[in-house]
Amino acid sequence: MLVKTVFNRLGKFKCFVICGVRWAKDELEILLRPRQGSAPLCRRCGVAGSCYDRQSERRFEFVPLWGVKTFLVYAPRRVDCVACGPTVEKLPWSEGRRRMTITYQCFLAHWAKKLSWREVANEFRSTWQSVFRSVAWVVEYGLIHRDLSGITAVGVDEIQWSTKKGFLTMVYQIDTHSRRLLWVARGRTVRGLLGFFRMLGKHRTAALQFICSDMWRAYIRVIAKKAPQALHILDRFHIVSNLNKALDEVRAKEARKISHEGYEPLKRSRWCFLKRPENLTPMQGIKLRELLQTNLKTVRAYLLAQQLRYFWEYSHPGWAGKFLDNWCTLVMRSRIEPIKKIARQLRRHRELILNWLRAKKLFSSGVVEGFNNKAKITLKKAYGFRTFSAMEIALFHQLGALPEPKFTHSYW
Ligand SMILES: [Zn+2]
Repeated sequence: MLVKTVFNRLGKFKCFVICGVRWAKDELEILLRPRQGSAPLCRRCGVAGSCYDRQSERRFEFVPLWGVKTFLVYAPRRVDCVACGPTVEKLPWSEGRRRMTITYQCFLAHWAKKLSWREVANEFRSTWQSVFRSVAWVVEYGLIHRDLSGITAVGVDEIQWSTKKGFLTMVYQIDTHSRRLLWVARGRTVRGLLGFFRMLGKHRTAALQFICSDMWRAYIRVIAKKAPQALHILDRFHIVSNLNKALDEVRAKEARKISHEGYEPLKRSRWCFLKRPENLTPMQGIKLRELLQTNLKTVRAYLLAQQLRYFWEYSHPGWAGKFLDNWCTLVMRSRIEPIKKIARQLRRHRELILNWLRAKKLFSSGVVEGFNNKAKITLKKAYGFRTFSAMEIALFHQLGALPEPKFTHSYW
């Protein structure tokens, strides 16, 4: 029969042969039997033992052929293993008591990278649970088989999981040759990040050269303790974004205050201040130029923030440090509290900020932010992830660059 020939070409299993194909209630069943003279292998230790009887026939769901649900049908043998005692034999197409074949699980997991889990379930007439279990299996396989050698640069960041459930700590590898998610932990605590270093192990931690993070105190403490040899970089992205937040705070407060006095020059000015001047629309440009004539607090804050942009142009940490000190002094005299707060922060982390220049501007958590955006999309696509472990699986599946089992034929 044709199916038999095709199947033998694509997915032969050593020591098993196809003895028939049958059509059962709109489903395709591929019947397997052991090859003559082959001994069953013990499920626990993989050593051949003697067969003493057979279980009843079981069905293992396979990749649908021509859109028809397809099953492998086989009656597993029971093995009498010298070392482990009686067990059921090991099957090359399935693991443990699973009813899905490894090929089918990889097939579903492959599509679950492109579509939401719900969509995959609908598309292949499967269930959300089956898709979830398949992804979980593939991720588990990947985490066991992934290669953690050669990691020299990592980025640590947090993302908000949901308003109720709070934050997640994410650690990414940001080497140019390999960028991927390495670790996810609940909350943004010391414990969460310590878990990463524990997973990585002493030797690999000692090989780290660069670590990027934001100014979150728990992270800074853990990194200083666990990887003192690495250059810890507080990078541009977080500093600029904090500064912009401070600027916006000044603007909003001032706008509220002067609108009480019936004066509204700051109306619709938000983006004039927050965008880079070269990105403004012509109208915003005109508005900004008008505003700069006034003596508003917001304008002074804006000019200070603009000045800090020169800091990133420096290539020598010594000069950059001087510039930063001057800028902070200037700000501290400005009497604009939100910006002063930033200056205090920068003073406190001066060395870590200069590390960005010491690392030759090579590493920035711009890469990390890119990953975080993808992570947010993954979380958004996932209506079903109520639990931390399901979400962890989804994130590793999308961002972990995990190895997958190899097949003689790819069904997707
Ligand atoms: Zn055994």
